[in-house]
Amino acid sequence: MSPTVRFTKNAANVFFHILTQCNLKCRHCYINPEQHGRQTLSLDTIRSWLETLARRAPMADLIFLGGEPTLHPDLAEAIHAARRLGYRSITIDTNGYLFHDILDRITPEAVNFISFSLDGASPATNDPIRGKGSFEACTAGIRNAIQKGFPTSLIYTVSSLNLHELVAVPPLLEELKINRFFIQVIGLRGQSATCAERPAENLQVTRDQWQSHVLPVARQVADQGIRVTYPKVFLEPDEPFECAGRVADNYFIFPNGRVYRCPLCEDFPLHSLAFANDRLIDVAPINEADLFKLDIPEGCVMNKLIQPHNITYLPDGSPANKIACCLLKEELI
Ligand code: SF4
Ligand code: SF4
Repeated sequence: MSPTVRFTKNAANVFFHILTQCNLKCRHCYINPEQHGRQTLSLDTIRSWLETLARRAPMADLIFLGGEPTLHPDLAEAIHAARRLGYRSITIDTNGYLFHDILDRITPEAVNFISFSLDGASPATNDPIRGKGSFEACTAGIRNAIQKGFPTSLIYTVSSLNLHELVAVPPLLEELKINRFFIQVIGLRGQSATCAERPAENLQVTRDQWQSHVLPVARQVADQGIRVTYPKVFLEPDEPFECAGRVADNYFIFPNGRVYRCPLCEDFPLHSLAFANDRLIDVAPINEADLFKLDIPEGCVMNKLIQPHNITYLPDGSPANKIACCLLKEELI
């Protein structure tokens, strides 16, 4: 199996948002142009920032994101530049529309995965979340990619809107011949944090729903021979808590130059690094790095700050579970 993003301790991952523009308006979109910028990075800037990160985190796994990264006319050249720089793996995260004939401008060897996002196993569930026609467009993109020999993965972001349909995903993966499956959990970021018509709390799933729906589907997918990755979310009492900000090497890069180490901080000006005149510089405190140092009984500090209703407390006031780092994933093979 070709490598892709690693979520383990000491892993290095570069999540590179090369633009924030997108053709869709997903209800839970985490892109926040106020915080992330509206510009499209030039190819020269992309190359320069890739070079800087390749020196700082050799052999990192690289993910091109947007907005919709295939809207960038120079994505193919950016991919070739990243290959030359020796990134361990290269993934494109796409909504499946595959603009600028990207599949004809790169070969399957140029990338390790093309990762498609679907939030339902049918148009009836997916399209109200991601946009009319997006199920058909995405599945057509997947079929086209597979027919041309590209390794593919599917990302399904679980929320109260599509939890019921997760059970229909394993046969869809089989039918489409997807190589890898990522289950995400809805977070309180971007659109899902501001969705007025449906408060964010209502989009989130409970611990019981997570355990009763997500884990059995993950096992079923693994039994089909497909590698499946899903977030840990709730730690058992005997499991240690670790903050990726302290033990891993992750970079979430946005077109306005902000570089975060923690995705939960992305709605706030808490980035600890920034590109300024193409140089990667440390940002003065207070920033996310100050939060990483805090030890609290609830586990993740940012989770406690922005989504405290995830935490339940025992009668003695102690949390029933620590909340894991959102970057801690489990994998079934
Ligand atoms: S979630 Fe992705 S595909 Fe959907 S609107 Fe946001 S950037 Fe576009
Ligand atoms: S999600 Fe929480 S635990 Fe993970 S890096 Fe951010 S602050 Fe640390």
